[in-house]
Amino acid sequence: MAAQDQFDDQAVAAFFSLTGYQAGVPMEMTATAYDACIQCCGKTDRITKSGTRALPGHTIAVDPKVIPLGTQVYIETLGVFTAEDTGRAIKGRRIDIYMETHEQAFKFGIKNLKVYMLNDKVTEL
Ligand SMILES: [Zn+2]
Repeated sequence: MAAQDQFDDQAVAAFFSLTGYQAGVPMEMTATAYDACIQCCGKTDRITKSGTRALPGHTIAVDPKVIPLGTQVYIETLGVFTAEDTGRAIKGRRIDIYMETHEQAFKFGIKNLKVYMLNDKVTEL
């Protein structure tokens, strides 16, 4: 477990070093996944709460009181996502990651992951 933690911290440090984003305090969040099926969304139009079209590897659903809509976040081991959607069950320290298919979302299961908000990008060159 310690070795895995160390690897994740190194990957996170490398990400922030490469992109110039400032590392905020990570939030431990419970992550699940969803897709645009009736079972997950009650609709299939892929239109998010923000009015955008949900994209795999890009869109997550959040509680806007915790992560405001429009915020870019870095999710450890997964990369950069944008908070574009909400969900009835997504309250507090919960995120829901958009995926292409219901099978992928189901296989993702439930994970506890560190999430960093990326609003503080360092712009100096
Ligand atoms: Zn689904």
